[in-house]
Amino acid sequence: YPFSPDEIEMGRLFTQIAGLAIENIQLQSSLKEQSLRDPLTGLHNRRYLFEILQLEIARARRGGYTISFVLLDIDHFKDLNDQYGHGAGDAMLRALAERLKNLVRAGDILCRYGGDEHIIIMANTTSEVAMERTEQLRLAVDAMQVEYEEKQLHCSISIGIATYPAHGSSVDEVISNADRALYISKNSGRNRSILYQE
Ligand code: GH3
Ligand code: MG
Repeated sequence: YPFSPDEIEMGRLFTQIAGLAIENIQLQSSLKEQSLRDPLTGLHNRRYLFEILQLEIARARRGGYTISFVLLDIDHFKDLNDQYGHGAGDAMLRALAERLKNLVRAGDILCRYGGDEHIIIMANTTSEVAMERTEQLRLAVDAMQVEYEEKQLHCSISIGIATYPAHGSSVDEVISNADRALYISKNSGRNRSILYQE
């Protein structure tokens, strides 16, 4: 027999410790992953957005390319909650997230920004291309019917777009200009995409 009982016991303890260490690493990374996602929709959250944006902006600066920021918000979402209940609102948020996930491109970063507001970061995308792609998203959402407790729910979205570096030299500045464009979209009748203009 090549190993003594002590040696076998030592080996067993060693694999146990190694196993625990691996489990711990897996737990840490899953907790980190969870803290960067919105539990309702599974989309990335604001915290993830700001972490990743620092990298994206640095990359765009070095490479000299543009990043479009697409801010979108559900129209009269409060009315949907009031009319059909909070569960219906949640079902709509989940359905919207699924639809957007299926429509964004591989390099896009889609986040639930807060409440009914979402953001899509389109790296290496000009304002014009972002506008075309955003219109496709808007029409797809407008065409969507969500079934909830035998009721058919519908919503539209309003969108504001601003592009780095033309519409701001920092993340905060570009986002606040996208927000201005969104505000105009809301005030000019909703269910439309507006590109920020100085
Ligand atoms: P507007 O077209 O101007 O955007 O109108 P709105 O009603 O969508 O805007 P408002 O910001 O007044 O309302 C947003 C609503 O979103 C209010 C809040 O109750 C609802 N909301 C935010 N988070 C959630 C959520 O996780 N689930 C549900 N069901 N509702 C949510
Ligand atoms: Mg809203």
